[in-house]
Amino acid sequence: MNDVTPMRLKSPEPIDAATVETWVFDLDNTLYPARCNLFVQVSARMTTFIEQRFGLAPGPAKDLQRALFQRHGTTLRGLMTEHAIDPAAFLHHVHDIDVTALDPAPRLDRLLAALPGRKLVFTNGSVPHAQRVMQRLGIERHFDTVFDIVAADYVPKPDPRPYARLVEIAGFAPAGAVMVEDMAKNLAPAAALGMRTVWLRSDYDWARDGAEADHVHHVADDLVGFLETLVQPAAEPR
Ligand SMILES: [Mg+2]
Repeated sequence: MNDVTPMRLKSPEPIDAATVETWVFDLDNTLYPARCNLFVQVSARMTTFIEQRFGLAPGPAKDLQRALFQRHGTTLRGLMTEHAIDPAAFLHHVHDIDVTALDPAPRLDRLLAALPGRKLVFTNGSVPHAQRVMQRLGIERHFDTVFDIVAADYVPKPDPRPYARLVEIAGFAPAGAVMVEDMAKNLAPAAALGMRTVWLRSDYDWARDGAEADHVHHVADDLVGFLETLVQPAAEPR
């Protein structure tokens, strides 16, 4: 690793998949597109959790949720820091969603099969949520590790600590890794460690924060379109 200063131009040249030893994928709004609105369900479950815990109407509960998210990066971190909420109860409640809002993703499955390198998931959600999402998409066989918010001791991205812990636990060289994410600011610690980064373009302001910064090395519209620039999948089964 001789280039740890993330000062590269955006999309200077395509990534050569053969040079990537390890792929680090975010989960929500990355392995499936934001337009599926699955994460909208998770957010709505966060609101009902706050309504029930604090005896609030939906409006004030949503206001508290937004304030905690803005102050602490994630709603869970805010609830733990300011209100000593049990994270397990929160995660169980908010991930009780209907994953049939997602369509199975056979093309993504074939692209991942054609993509060389080890594949990991790094999420601010939980392992059970990641497993249900990946099973619904039909892609779980490609990933050997899910590093979740519990493994991160409830310290969410973009705090640098869980990135260092992921590298240590999963045991890979950041210089040979690429991280793919929809929240641009979550790519900053990855770039600082020496990983190459891919931002999946988002219409959400909170996801675009940091998108113009130098820690975003490559930009793509969605994961399938990005992987199509790297590998040729096997032909569709007839
Ligand atoms: Mg995401």
